[in-house]
Amino acid sequence: MPELPLWAWIATAAVLGLLVGSFLNVVILRLPERMTAMWRQEARDVLELEAEDATPLPPGIVREPSHCPHCKHRLSALDNIPLFGWLFLGGRCRYCRAAISIQYPLVELLSGVLSALVVWKFGPTWPALAGLAFTWMLIALAGIDFRTQYLPDQINYPLLWLGLLLSVLPMFVNPVAAIVGAAVGYLSLWSVYWLFKLATGKEGMGYGDFKLLAALGAWMGPGKLLPIVLLSSLVGALIGGALIALRKHQRELPMPFGPFIAMAGWICFMAGDWLLDTYARLTGLR
Ligand SMILES: [Zn+2]
Repeated sequence: MPELPLWAWIATAAVLGLLVGSFLNVVILRLPERMTAMWRQEARDVLELEAEDATPLPPGIVREPSHCPHCKHRLSALDNIPLFGWLFLGGRCRYCRAAISIQYPLVELLSGVLSALVVWKFGPTWPALAGLAFTWMLIALAGIDFRTQYLPDQINYPLLWLGLLLSVLPMFVNPVAAIVGAAVGYLSLWSVYWLFKLATGKEGMGYGDFKLLAALGAWMGPGKLLPIVLLSSLVGALIGGALIALRKHQRELPMPFGPFIAMAGWICFMAGDWLLDTYARLTGLR
């Protein structure tokens, strides 16, 4: 790597994170739409119904240029500048003045900040690059689950495979830890799901949640799974409780669990050892 001060790498990561963030926005919006349309087609195939020619597939992720969802006006390069484009336009479309969802700048900001933190922790190294991929996939998963209550295999599986493959080097954990982590991650939530379902007749989670925890287990090994589950339940209970208290969310409505698993997974990836050490010291375990 060329000799650059760390701050220059961190700044580069922040800019890269902002740019990737605007791509993640597109993925978060378009991937679920496209998947639903493809399922409809497959379902009609299976049921031997005629295909719906009239409804074309929703726009692809890479090929379609960005446009205002309200007036369909194509966005200029200037409007498309991550975060600052939105701030500069005051959160409104330049052409029709329709409000632009705050999701766009939030996802870009999140991606920029988290990317900078990853490079701050790992420096200009290969683990930093892997950490960036990990971070971006988690943001996409959390965003999609938040909007649609669904964690797509199209991102969950690549995250799992990448975690397993990196263990071959090994990068973060060795292959045994990665494989055991993936299996235990899946099975632990799977058993909670069935116990909960047998006891209450309700479904508290989905299979996407098991796959996400399996992927996190592949990246971090089985030792981080309990902290991830505890942390995500804690954050989920706090935020869920706050939303119910503020009457923004009804108790009976399903609350996506994926964003909390993703959040806890990222925190444990960045600071898991430190968290476990601190916990052990505070409780006198060590
Ligand atoms: Zn518009």
